[in-house]
Amino acid sequence: MSGSNAREQAIFEITNREVTQVGKRKTLDQIWASDVFTLTRMEEALSKKAYKAMKNTMETGAPLDPQVADSVAAAMKAWAISKGANYFSHIFYPLTGFTAEKHDGFILSESNGKAISEFSGGLLIQGEPDGSSFPNGGIRQTNAARGYTAWDPTSPAYILKTRNGATLCIPSIFISWTGESMDKKVPLLRSNAAMNAAATKVLKKVGERNVAPLNSSCGAEQEYFLVDENFASLRPDLLLTGRTLFGAPSAKGQEFDDHYFGAIADRVLIFMQEVEDKLYRLGIPAKTRHNEVAPGQFEIAPYYEAANVAADHQQMLMTVLKNTAKRHGFACLFHEKPFAGINGSGKHVNWSVGNSTQGNLLDPGDKPSENLNFLLFCGAVIRGVHLYGPLLRAVVASAGNDHRLGANEAPPAILSVYLGSQIEQIFNQITDGKLDCTEDSGMMDLGLSQIIPFVKDAGDRNRTSPFAFTGNRFEFRAVGSEQSVAGSLTAMNTMLADSLNWMADELDTAIEGKSNAAIRAGVIKVLKKVMKEHGAVVFGGDGYSAEWHKEAVEKRGLANLPTTADALPKLRDKDVVHLFESTGVLSPVELEARFEVDAEIYLLKIAVESKLVISIATKTIYPVATAYLSELAQTASAAAELGVDFDTSLAQNIAANIDGMMKSVAKLKKEITKDSFKSVEEHMQFCAGDIRSLMEKVRGYVDALEAEVADEFWPLPTYQEMLFIK
Ligand code: ADP
Ligand code: MG
Repeated sequence: MSGSNAREQAIFEITNREVTQVGKRKTLDQIWASDVFTLTRMEEALSKKAYKAMKNTMETGAPLDPQVADSVAAAMKAWAISKGANYFSHIFYPLTGFTAEKHDGFILSESNGKAISEFSGGLLIQGEPDGSSFPNGGIRQTNAARGYTAWDPTSPAYILKTRNGATLCIPSIFISWTGESMDKKVPLLRSNAAMNAAATKVLKKVGERNVAPLNSSCGAEQEYFLVDENFASLRPDLLLTGRTLFGAPSAKGQEFDDHYFGAIADRVLIFMQEVEDKLYRLGIPAKTRHNEVAPGQFEIAPYYEAANVAADHQQMLMTVLKNTAKRHGFACLFHEKPFAGINGSGKHVNWSVGNSTQGNLLDPGDKPSENLNFLLFCGAVIRGVHLYGPLLRAVVASAGNDHRLGANEAPPAILSVYLGSQIEQIFNQITDGKLDCTEDSGMMDLGLSQIIPFVKDAGDRNRTSPFAFTGNRFEFRAVGSEQSVAGSLTAMNTMLADSLNWMADELDTAIEGKSNAAIRAGVIKVLKKVMKEHGAVVFGGDGYSAEWHKEAVEKRGLANLPTTADALPKLRDKDVVHLFESTGVLSPVELEARFEVDAEIYLLKIAVESKLVISIATKTIYPVATAYLSELAQTASAAAELGVDFDTSLAQNIAANIDGMMKSVAKLKKEITKDSFKSVEEHMQFCAGDIRSLMEKVRGYVDALEAEVADEFWPLPTYQEMLFIK
């Protein structure tokens, strides 16, 4: 089938497609966490003592006795087998940001020829995948290939089902033989511990007696696109890179804002419902769903959970979305910028910290100006973002995310903090030394008797801020839709730990006396210092505006790091190395490994994209453009023979664009063979600059050709088709 015939066939199939049936839905309480080895299941299966120990570990991270692990393993195996599982798998999260799994059977054959099922505490606690192919950033030589996975009892085990069977999945960490973390989970757990220790210190200093262990929480909003599989399979760029490397804009894009929160199409809604049912079975509390701004773009957000569990669930959520989409004939795209000219996708990471005794420490309550705990933690975040903004930018750096950050649609590549008018006012008053805030955010009274008045939020929303306070949490909006949330959660917890450690020291001298008044005066003194040194990071205006970019960099000294090549090397900054080492979250070797792995992934992605640009331009676009040109040329000469006037400008344009395209392709071909770079930084800069702009140049010609070549010749599904045909 020729290119354009395949396109027509795809449209025919899509428009005649039957909606996938999903059967009768069960109620929430019938399916909720039915595939999870929950505390309730453990309570039924374990001795009282073992259950209590497990509960304590899950809730507070307390150490677990290996004997308890034995009885948990036995109970887990019995439950898993009752659910049809013959295999178990340690699930871990290598530095690629993806999820990895190695499956082992419960089976053990005996000398008498029988087979029994076996799963001891030892097998539960630790596994050894031959992890030599996982990126380790130089932590481990291939000749020292041992890697261990070890059970994380704080994230519940679950069953993953396919049509053919079930597997018991055990969330795990992944470390080298020498004990270095080669994954995303270990640093997150360590950052939580560092935050807990520092937060406890601070809370005690301001007079809290009873302080339960603190945990960080995360609710991640996931954006994604759905494109019909029939179209996606005709786009090698979507298949291999997750984004369209070419594509002329559709006549209609998102300018009407008619997709945002619009009615969800049947086929999509049925897909979403199946996703939700699957998530519920896995104990993932999917809560909101809606159409996003761009046509074909959607969002799903689960209710927030402990950060470690939320990070694991987030990975699962992406897998469930992808697999379920396939069943419904969709390709689910997580790329940060699948289509040029319309919004890309992000992952808003909502983050807070709290415990059972003090509650959510980022909740301002009714009277924020009197809520010292809140003010301290909020101040600690302000200091953290100011000092470690470049780190926050670095942990969200990727080839895909570069298309969002720095463009005028997503949070800018400059890290600032939005507090909302009320909280900002309080911090300004602290700076000025007169804290007498008007607390009341007021009621929303519309004067319509039938509408019940309700309490307004303390501040409006600011969609242009990368790091926004949203009522009782901070929302980090610069995270890419494809990325694991673990990296940003780790960075946020760690910067908070650092700020709280600093505060604990400051409070020692600032608080003079034991009275409440003395404590309050001391806290305000410390916060004043925070604002004096770090207040420059607080910004409530339009983060997209050119004035802000100028002011941020020139007046406020904030870093603007538009590309991965600019941002990633910040992981090597002395203060960042010190931050991670002093908090015990990452050793310098472990941190360097992250830089190396991320840099390599960046270079590889750009390499794949540029090779694909060359091959699509040469093998797909060139043949059809020249075929059409020759048709036009024949028509022109026939017209000339007939002595008829014939406008050849279209043919000439096409010829010029073909020529321009092939010249740029030739340049790109030559540039990608360059390998004489002094450092990986220099190589990344070369990719972010020269290579990317050459790819854009080729694209410019191809997109111009798309607008000129006859539709029946065009081989690639168009933006219009991919975004609007469902
Ligand atoms: P919006 O799109 O308006 O920002 P959503 O309701 O889509 O809001 O998502 C908000 C996310 O923030 C949800 O995952 C929610 O559970 C989470 N969230 C709410 N409160 C907290 C909190 N205290 N800590 C962390 N996450 C929270
Ligand atoms: Mg949000």
